[in-house]
Amino acid sequence: MSASDQNSPVPDEDRARHTELVRELDDHSYRYYMGRPIISDAEYDALMAELQRIEDRHPILITQDSPTQKVGAPISVDFAEVEHLVRMESLGNAFDVDELNAWADRASAEVPVESYLCELKIDGLAVDLVYENGRLARAATRGDGRVGEDITLNVRTIEAIPERLDESVRPAPELLEVRGEVFMKVEDFHALNDRITETKEHPPFANPRNAAAGSLRQKDPRVTATRPLTMIVHGVGAYTPAPGAGEDAAFTSQSQAYRLVGEWGLPLSDRYKVVTSMDEVRSYVSYYAGHRHEPAYEIDGIVVKVDAFSLQRRLGSTSRIPRWAIAYKYPPEEVTTTLTDIKVGVGRTGRVTPYGVMEPVTVAGSEVEFATLHNAQEVARKGVRIGDTVVLRKAGDVIPEILAPVVDRRDGSEREFVMPTHCPECGTELGQQKEGDVDVRCPNARRCPGQLRERVAFIASRKALDIEALGYVAATALTQPLEPAVAPLADEGDLFDLTVDQLLPIRTHVLDPDTTEPKTDEKTGEPKVVSFFANKDGEPKKTVDKLFEQLEEAKAKPLWRVLVSLSIRHVGPRAAEDLARHFRSLDAIREASEEELASVDGVGPTIASSIREWFSEDWHVGIVEKWRAAGVRMEDEASEETDRTLEGVTVVVTGSLDNYSRDSAKEAVAERGGRATASVSKKTGFVVAGGAPGSKYDKAVSLGVPVLDEQGFEVLLRQGPEAAEAVRVNPPEEG
Ligand code: NAD
Repeated sequence: MSASDQNSPVPDEDRARHTELVRELDDHSYRYYMGRPIISDAEYDALMAELQRIEDRHPILITQDSPTQKVGAPISVDFAEVEHLVRMESLGNAFDVDELNAWADRASAEVPVESYLCELKIDGLAVDLVYENGRLARAATRGDGRVGEDITLNVRTIEAIPERLDESVRPAPELLEVRGEVFMKVEDFHALNDRITETKEHPPFANPRNAAAGSLRQKDPRVTATRPLTMIVHGVGAYTPAPGAGEDAAFTSQSQAYRLVGEWGLPLSDRYKVVTSMDEVRSYVSYYAGHRHEPAYEIDGIVVKVDAFSLQRRLGSTSRIPRWAIAYKYPPEEVTTTLTDIKVGVGRTGRVTPYGVMEPVTVAGSEVEFATLHNAQEVARKGVRIGDTVVLRKAGDVIPEILAPVVDRRDGSEREFVMPTHCPECGTELGQQKEGDVDVRCPNARRCPGQLRERVAFIASRKALDIEALGYVAATALTQPLEPAVAPLADEGDLFDLTVDQLLPIRTHVLDPDTTEPKTDEKTGEPKVVSFFANKDGEPKKTVDKLFEQLEEAKAKPLWRVLVSLSIRHVGPRAAEDLARHFRSLDAIREASEEELASVDGVGPTIASSIREWFSEDWHVGIVEKWRAAGVRMEDEASEETDRTLEGVTVVVTGSLDNYSRDSAKEAVAERGGRATASVSKKTGFVVAGGAPGSKYDKAVSLGVPVLDEQGFEVLLRQGPEAAEAVRVNPPEEG
């Protein structure tokens, strides 16, 4: 920074924005440390980055109490102040590998780093514990890093934190200051939320971090005692060994200090790792990027520390962060956004489900605009209102979830959601199937165009008859076209009788499958309308040929797929396979009594009664009859030469096979009377392991279950279990 930059006048707007940001950041920090943040971490980080940019341009604005220069939050008047013996710092951040490498390069340029300690960055809150002659004398929050809040009584209620150090290995030091993270395990957090919602003691917490912060900073330690908090140590401060303790009681490195505090009974992580190269640091970082939810608690990154204390001391710290450590932050899985509306959609079995419509936000790499809210009770339990700022979570491939409202951001304009009394698609009055059901349903199963559309789209899905040319737009076109006035499908019974002439005149909306709202045309801003099956000249598009071809193929699909396609409640692929294997024809299933159905392995009373109920509707039987007349296969024929050789045998297929897809391998097993399951247990007959088989293979080997390669699988199918046993890959267990 040149002297002229230092002296250049600061424009009024930068000065004003600086003041504003300092005030806002201080306010957010305070709320955050109370466990009640009103913005997401990403928003906080963005404000901080903006402040940093202003200060980089005008260093003259930097004061000691700028958020860029200090740690943590102001002290609350609810607790007494405690001065830390050694200052508590925050951590610098790296958001990608380049930033991580840059940190390591800077450290290595100054000192010869031989080893790094890698550990998880637990998403909780830091506490400082002081042990005097082996007794817990004081516990404090981090506060501003120099002075924290005295929370000794609250911390005493945490079981993981010993009141007295264990002296069975070595005597307790005269003085020991340790730092660690207090947090709540994910499972305990959910249990706590269930409990406090039931007792109405507190609104549910949005996440384990807020729950931990809110629980620890209670004025009444008896409340803290009821909260499932725990702790893991991640640092040491002041230290005076016991008199005459000897050299091996000196702290020489982070990892060696961990060993000693572990001997004294303080809680340590079993996931930290000391490594000697940055390559290993990077693989630790990438391992947990892919296994972020493997630990029982939430993590938001990895902390990398130079292990040797002598080097830590030489590297030193800035005003708020050590130069010898860095936090590698993973992309946030939680963001805040506005819940602009709560709408309802109707599903293929008539269930009417509320879902949230949000200002689109990016979370875990994808843009999210909708999230299901399951049912009206769930909306009430979460306490979300239309117009609320909400915390939205999307973890990995899991579907996005609205966690909780940010109550502190309400301005009074928010509205409670009211479950509609009539179906949004057909206007029929909604009801419950049985008294006390949480689900509300549209009873107009046959004619509700929404339900029919969803059923037709489902028939085409990979779980059912797998008809690729019949996507969501085509399903809409066939069930609720804009033109002609009468839909080609009155119900799904007509699906296999469609003609080209019926398809060509159809014009339809393009619905968004998530919301069932028409998509809008980017140019006109009007709802999109397409002629799905005909081109400009009124000739059939290619997709028409494909559709008829695939409908023809679908007729020959195995019985379980036909059964799934009927949208009988509770009958998914798993149950359908079990039923098909047992009864072998749709007629046999239709004629079976409820008891007979319920006694089938994998079926049970709920599915049995649902099947009986389904067949009691005449129009349902009508679908089956129309499909039969159109040539849909209604029974499974066992191939002659391998007739039911796998009766009573369970087979797990894992990894990829050359000549079978996962589905066709399962079907081959089922056709021979065997049962293809997903998880390996002692009762599994065979595990078929293709390329890259993974943990199921390991489990099979450890349980002594016979493992077959693809050739062995062929032997099993052609010649049966005995012949397959002889070609197993793993040796049979002795005895
Ligand atoms: P930080 O959370 O980025 O890192 C420092 C903290 O990490 C330590 O104090 C310690 O508590 C914790 N930690 C967890 N595991 C650790 C380990 N193994 N070793 C060492 N420390 C470990 O920094 P911070 O100063 O506590 O907080 C700043 C961050 O908090 C911001 O980046 C922001 O994301 C968030 N924040 C959010 C709001 C909000 O309103 N949403 C407000 C303030 C701060």
